[in-house]
Amino acid sequence: MSKHKFKTEVNQLLQLIIHSLYSHKEIFLRELVSNASDALDKLKYLTLTDESFKKMKFDPRIDIEFDKDKKTLVVKDTGIGMNEEDLVENLGTIANSGTKKFLQQLKPGTAIDANLIGQFGVGFYSIFMVADTVEVLSRKAGEDKAFLWKSSGKGDYEIAEAEQALNGTSITLHLNDEGIEFANKWEIDNIIKKYSNHIPFPIFLHFEEEDKDKKKSRKTEQVNSASAIWKKPKNELKDKDYNEFYKTISHDYDDPLHCIHTHAEGTLQYTTLFYIPKKAPFDLFQVEYKPGVKLYVKRVFITDDDKELLPSYLRFVKGIIDSDDLPLNVSRELLQKNRVLATIKSASVKKILSELVTLSTDKKKYEEFYTEFRKPLKEGLYQDFANRETLLELVRFKSTTETGYTSLSDYKLRMKPDQKAIYYITGENENNLRHSPLLEMYKQKEIEVLILDDEIDEIVVPAVGKYKDIELKSVNRSDAAQDLKTEDEKKTEKEIEPLIKRMAKVLSSEVKEVKASVRLSDSPSCIVADENDPTMQMQHLMKAMGQGNLPDIKPILEVNPTHPIVKKLETLKDDSVFEDITRLLFEQAMLIEGVQIKDPSEFAKRLNRIMEGAL
Ligand code: ADP
Repeated sequence: MSKHKFKTEVNQLLQLIIHSLYSHKEIFLRELVSNASDALDKLKYLTLTDESFKKMKFDPRIDIEFDKDKKTLVVKDTGIGMNEEDLVENLGTIANSGTKKFLQQLKPGTAIDANLIGQFGVGFYSIFMVADTVEVLSRKAGEDKAFLWKSSGKGDYEIAEAEQALNGTSITLHLNDEGIEFANKWEIDNIIKKYSNHIPFPIFLHFEEEDKDKKKSRKTEQVNSASAIWKKPKNELKDKDYNEFYKTISHDYDDPLHCIHTHAEGTLQYTTLFYIPKKAPFDLFQVEYKPGVKLYVKRVFITDDDKELLPSYLRFVKGIIDSDDLPLNVSRELLQKNRVLATIKSASVKKILSELVTLSTDKKKYEEFYTEFRKPLKEGLYQDFANRETLLELVRFKSTTETGYTSLSDYKLRMKPDQKAIYYITGENENNLRHSPLLEMYKQKEIEVLILDDEIDEIVVPAVGKYKDIELKSVNRSDAAQDLKTEDEKKTEKEIEPLIKRMAKVLSSEVKEVKASVRLSDSPSCIVADENDPTMQMQHLMKAMGQGNLPDIKPILEVNPTHPIVKKLETLKDDSVFEDITRLLFEQAMLIEGVQIKDPSEFAKRLNRIMEGAL
């Protein structure tokens, strides 16, 4: 026998589960059954593809037994099993590094949403909510030795050699006070029907029954329907069936937001069943996210860790792809190059996107979807050139004239007759953006501007460039206002050229250029980026992402020729006051944009000098 300590993150996870999942303790059984089903899937695959397993007798099943007096519950499968190494690796550490990172982020003592836990598949460890001690007896298919893993979930576990005639895993829970209610036929029957009805292997429940003479006898009943739900015709399935199946594959407690079931019968035969969850999974933005789609070939499970089954921007979609045309022993490495799969994949993406377009007609439901998944969807604009047009119909933005989100096509309908571009402003804070001086002219001319406050907008929208034939123009850039200038405004600009030159001299090392601007009405100045330069926020973002040695790219200062301060500056003789005010006009414009100024103490000194003069 050998004793082992759990890796620290396992201890952390155990505590977390035990304290946050009490109201959902029944899910331990769903997790055990889904692990058993995965183990059967893995062995089934080997018996179909691997010569050394082909002769093996494979009787896939899951058996559940309980004993109320002894306070035990046993879940047994005839699947792939685990050897000593597997037991240490799978039940003593957390393999999924996404989960590890998630745990590290959690602060001790903070309450977490039970839903969040559900999403990362608490798996095996949830049994410690209902059991004092757990024994896992397992023999790996194709190996002779069996092992017994034993733990009370309190920091360590033991492993010893043991006897077991057949391959597979048998998990015995010694139920605690919280768990004793599960040593009950109706309880188990209910839970299995609720969460595991469509597990494609039979689940047998063994129980004792009394007849009318009080004579007890042992009985066995199959409790699940054991059919691959995705293969059934759509008209035989109800929302309830779809929702139940979703919960077995997603580890989510909630129903999905939307479900998409397709039987394709053309040159290729395949079935897809996709779900859009209500909430984004916690690992959505982690590099090592867990893909949500499983691949089957003729109902045989092939893989659930292929990130290429759907493009990464659709990584929030859960579900199943089952193809009749792929060979069973398709190598997992070669999957990505497989033409059948490529066709299924591209049809699937089109189908999902077109369903989303339909979903978008239900404003409330779509907003629920969009709030959760707008960022990955925007990644799609960048990644998926072939579907860009559809994606452009799916993205929504906040706007200066509308409440909530608006689509580009609605913006287009509201455009002024002579308006040539769709205008947008980018930055990280919606409130700052709404009050930015850059919007003054647009407000005055009653032109709508989209408010883009997701970091990713700054990268994606300029790359897209156009909606239909209309240019997308950032008001943070110098030339955005050019096409809106009137003849009068052009004249005014000309008139203050000498002032502009004098200001440019003062700010020669801070700005690229000083310009007269027509875009301002209430504010005296603003800063913008030159046509092909990154905006100030973008520079900030790039620095935050570690590109610290990026050279400073200077902004352009725009001043408002009709503003009283600017008008008075034109005739100001005192050079030192002129310099102070010019610098202050630049510095306040930086601050309003949310950009740090280089020398705050110099700024304060200047401000004080001007205040003193005014008093
Ligand atoms: P997950 O199922 O999300 O990977 P779990 O904590 O539920 O996480 O299980 C950890 C691992 O232990 C599984 O990935 C699997 O490799 C192994 N395992 C659990 N139960 C069984 C079983 N009944 N048969 C074979 N392997 C199992």
